[in-house]
Amino acid sequence: MAETIIPKATAKRLPVYYRYLNFLANSGTTKISSTELSDAVKVDSATIRRDFSYFGALGKRGYGYDVNDLLKFFKKILNQDRLTNVGLVGVGNLGHALLNYNFRQANNIRISAGFDINPDLAGTIQSGVPIYPMDEMIKQIKDQQIEIVILTVPIDAAQHITDDLVKAGIKGIMNFTPIRISVPSYVRVQNVDLATELQTLIYFLEHYGPTLNEP
Ligand code: ATP
Repeated sequence: MAETIIPKATAKRLPVYYRYLNFLANSGTTKISSTELSDAVKVDSATIRRDFSYFGALGKRGYGYDVNDLLKFFKKILNQDRLTNVGLVGVGNLGHALLNYNFRQANNIRISAGFDINPDLAGTIQSGVPIYPMDEMIKQIKDQQIEIVILTVPIDAAQHITDDLVKAGIKGIMNFTPIRISVPSYVRVQNVDLATELQTLIYFLEHYGPTLNEP
């Protein structure tokens, strides 16, 4: 499929549309008007129409959208029609929680390999996922063609593990450590700092009250 360049804001909304369309399809709904979709996903219908227009005219005037057509379309765009293998480095509390989380319920993502320095964990299977020792990380990532890794290690281990992940050829890191890791420009990092997010929420509540919504 030809690459469609879409604005970041649109790209961020795609999984929201996708999740809701999946829900509709599962409940047997075959069509939806842009107003209904707008109410459900809390995005105004003009924005929805503009978002969808990046992919060509998907809706029919006076009819609305065909749920299955849209779903097929979004599956392609979001790469949901193929299984994405993800690695996880650092099988501690957070790592375990993520191993247990069912990413596949709404998306075709699965954690296929875990890595940890702890000899009690390496060589075991945790929540159905094999855990490998660190000295096998680069080889396993290459063999399993893992392109995305979730990083849940202590701060002091984050950068040197990142360097090895880059050597192994990964393309994206979901970084749960609170430090900003350095990567070459061809690797994408998504930072998820749970403590900062919680602090931000507390700050907003204290300063602006409960009704402020980020655009
Ligand atoms: P968290 O909730 O952040 O996972 P935790 O208290 O369970 O915290 P941490 O000390 O943060 O554990 O370590 C997380 C995991 O990372 C542990 O399973 C630990 O064995 C592993 N780990 C620590 N150092 C390294 C390293 N250099 N390489 C790989 N794994 C490591």
